[in-house]
Amino acid sequence: MSVSGGCEVCATGDASFGCDRCGRLVCDEHYDRETGYCTECAAELKRPGEATSDNEEWRDGVDTYRM
Ligand SMILES: [Zn+2]
Ligand SMILES: [Zn+2]
Repeated sequence: MSVSGGCEVCATGDASFGCDRCGRLVCDEHYDRETGYCTECAAELKRPGEATSDNEEWRDGVDTYRM
């Protein structure tokens, strides 16, 4: 355990998480639990336009899921 500094994003928070992508040490606020990345990396991955809400539309006719 060599947490000797603060968050590498805001420099004020307590760096208690490590980004799985860039290895940056970040605070709770700058850590994305969903991805395990820092918010910087997470923001790159979650680009607008990659929304998943489009999927439902073209599968509209498929209605085989019934009990
Ligand atoms: Zn921070
Ligand atoms: Zn990162």
